[in-house]
Amino acid sequence: MFDLTVVLDQVEKPHNLSAILRSCDAVGVLEAHVISKEERLPTFNSTAQGSQKWVALNKHKKINTTLRRLKEKGFQVYGTTLEKDARDYRECNFCEPTAFVLGAEKWGLTKEAIELVDETIFIPMRGMVQSLNVSVAAATLLFEALRQRQDAGLVPKNGEGIDEETYRECLFQWSYPQVAEWCKINDRPYPELNENGEIIEDLPRDVKLRY
Ligand code: SAM
Repeated sequence: MFDLTVVLDQVEKPHNLSAILRSCDAVGVLEAHVISKEERLPTFNSTAQGSQKWVALNKHKKINTTLRRLKEKGFQVYGTTLEKDARDYRECNFCEPTAFVLGAEKWGLTKEAIELVDETIFIPMRGMVQSLNVSVAAATLLFEALRQRQDAGLVPKNGEGIDEETYRECLFQWSYPQVAEWCKINDRPYPELNENGEIIEDLPRDVKLRY
């Protein structure tokens, strides 16, 4: 699903990033976003179980442009906070294009993010601890969105609801990541595949050797 996503506002810890991407993969989310002011690349650990290969994590420097672009694409942007005026997530409709903005482990959502979201939501807590781990909060919200969409008959049985061309692109990138990278660098289309998923075209030898 390209119309359900998470925006991670300076969530940097590898085990949390990994667990969140694994949950994205579990519900069929194909793309997530992370705002990182540092130059370093996000890193993952074994918690991801390889999900970083299937869920694209787009890196951004600024939350304002990231959220604006999502809104322009028609996403309803929900900030997740523990603030008093936030709405119980069970009262919200996540069947429309939805982005959940999640905050850093220690500080929560930045003030800037809270000001930019369409609405703030919370997951009610009944125990002694104030908040959930960020990856648990992400999973709770993603599975609620999936549940609502399944109940409304909106979840596709295959292809995750993406158009044929995007589906083919994903399939190629997942099957031949290094050839896909070479095509990107050389600004050329992906080669055709035969019915067995094998590349028909004769590629330069050094590209072929890097499968
Ligand atoms: N001290 C931080 C605060 O006051 O926000 C706690 C941050 S919490 C460990 C990390 C992130 O998980 C939060 O920014 C929020 O995105 C999400 N989160 C955790 N528990 C939540 C809850 N009960 N409702 C909504 N979001 C929650």
